[in-house]
Amino acid sequence: MKRRDFFNSCLGGLAGMNIFFSSGKHRLSLKDSKKEGEETNVLVKVLGTAQDGGLPQIGCYCKNCLRAREDQRFSRLISSLAIIDLEEKKYFILDATPDIRTQSDIAFNRLALRKQGRKNSPHGVLLTHAHIGHYTGLMFYGYEAVSTHKMLVHCSSRMKSFLSGNGPWSQLVRLENISIHTLSLEKEFLLTPRISFTPFLVPHRNEYTDTLGFIISGEKRKLLYVPDIQSWKAWSRSVVEETRKSDVALLDGTFYSSEELPGRDLSKIGHPFIKTSLKTLKNVAEEGKTKIYFTHLNHTNLALDPGGEARKEIEEKGFGIASEGMEFFL
Ligand SMILES: [Zn+2]
Ligand SMILES: [Zn+2]
Ligand SMILES: [Zn+2]
Repeated sequence: MKRRDFFNSCLGGLAGMNIFFSSGKHRLSLKDSKKEGEETNVLVKVLGTAQDGGLPQIGCYCKNCLRAREDQRFSRLISSLAIIDLEEKKYFILDATPDIRTQSDIAFNRLALRKQGRKNSPHGVLLTHAHIGHYTGLMFYGYEAVSTHKMLVHCSSRMKSFLSGNGPWSQLVRLENISIHTLSLEKEFLLTPRISFTPFLVPHRNEYTDTLGFIISGEKRKLLYVPDIQSWKAWSRSVVEETRKSDVALLDGTFYSSEELPGRDLSKIGHPFIKTSLKTLKNVAEEGKTKIYFTHLNHTNLALDPGGEARKEIEEKGFGIASEGMEFFL
């Protein structure tokens, strides 16, 4: 069984509770009859769900990494989304990860655009911040690889300065492989006639750049994407309200609880634990309007075990763990 088919079969229960969640089979043709909730031409496809280091993580032989290495069905690509306009046949990548070569194929195949001799690059890339899992995939658009021409990169002004001022990224700018569009915070930006997004600042370790989250709006629905945040309390917005306003929320699920981090100073953990988020967002999950999934899972995460207690608790409380191939029609 291929890894995505396996995840789809694991996700049977979740699919039942989510009317606009499709099976995640990216070979699904546009001619296939549309299910309830799939009536729009705007699709967000999950391309990866691991923290920056991926799963398995290099050189790590912890329980989760061992399982992922022994059986590919348990491995996870690094957190990223494809935002797809099925009508215009355009796709955009939200966060350029070190796994972008595989992820780019997943997005391209979903659009059924594969033709011999054709090159594949997205119509734009949106970036959250400059930690390794979120932007280093840009290198494959440069001189040594596909060598795009003025591919649009949407990011904050600090991210623009970082890319323009530091090699090897500055070469992408100099050779015009990419063209950087500086985003205005809190302002809606139109990506295609039917897709827009609104970027906002989130608190997170800001060594090189600030960090953005995004609200992606389609024809009928909104998706909230916050893969990296210090804590919900430190955020200027209310996570309860923001989640409630969205139809789907993909949120920072880096760690499940302090149990997976023995000996670590908890005050220095720069992410909300999933266990905390289950409490904070309890009412929103119970109201049932917003589907909430955790993404950006660290290799230590207790929720990575599909048969484990952590996963059971998350699902019993009406939340989910995001997985590669999941699709949301917006
Ligand atoms: Zn990250
Ligand atoms: Zn590990
Ligand atoms: Zn980060």
